[in-house]
Amino acid sequence: MTAEKSLAIVLRVVEFSESSYIVTLFTDNFGRVSALAKGARRPKGPFESALDLLALCRVVFLRKPGDSLDLLTEAKLERRFRAAARSLPRFYAGLYIAELLLAWTEHSDSNTPLFILSAQAITGLDNADSVTRTILHFEIRGLHLLGLLPSLVYCVECGTMVDVAQRAAFGLQAGGVLCPRCKPGKRQVISISKQARWLMQALAQSNHYSDLNRQSVAPDVDPTVMKAERPDLAWGELRAVTSQIVFHQLDRKPRLHPFLNRYCLEDQA
Ligand SMILES: [Zn+2]
Repeated sequence: MTAEKSLAIVLRVVEFSESSYIVTLFTDNFGRVSALAKGARRPKGPFESALDLLALCRVVFLRKPGDSLDLLTEAKLERRFRAAARSLPRFYAGLYIAELLLAWTEHSDSNTPLFILSAQAITGLDNADSVTRTILHFEIRGLHLLGLLPSLVYCVECGTMVDVAQRAAFGLQAGGVLCPRCKPGKRQVISISKQARWLMQALAQSNHYSDLNRQSVAPDVDPTVMKAERPDLAWGELRAVTSQIVFHQLDRKPRLHPFLNRYCLEDQA
């Protein structure tokens, strides 16, 4: 057994015995980790109150071979997720991020950029960042970092550039935009505007949604073809398209999604 140290986001806490929890953590160096936290339920347990949902902690854990649970030996709180106490939409948005991370990540499969994105999104929700934009950026950049973002410029079937002057056909099942030749007969095809495609590409490559306001993002995004006027009008459309992509990738609607829609996304775009 080796003792590993890592930064970690607490994704799930489940009671295991009278005194212990099983915690699921998303760590910066080791991906998702499930560990037994012995004594964590005692008032003066070894972890104090570090194991709160969505808290950022510094942890030490002992890796166990095979499928056995790892053993958490230390957890020091770096930052608590406080939004729960003051805003229901922010709380639900945080839970939604935890739900996506549980679905998106594999045991011990490290993805440090996704960890950084997640920690930043949770901090943003805890501060004053826009809930809608934080979630959209998390979804789109998260899909990009996992290699799951659909093709947006070139036809996913034949590779030709799809006309950027107009709306494009977007095949959820096909996994990207479709040219007029390849579209017929495809199932689950929706229509996507040039602005929404531009915004999706830009968000995928930005470290924060507010980076879009800076001129510097555009050259990275644009292979000279995807200039879009007023992409800021496309947030609502992008919300709908991205939800469809997320549902399709997971093969289900995330449990928290209806709550997000109800509380967060109407008046905070
Ligand atoms: Zn094609």
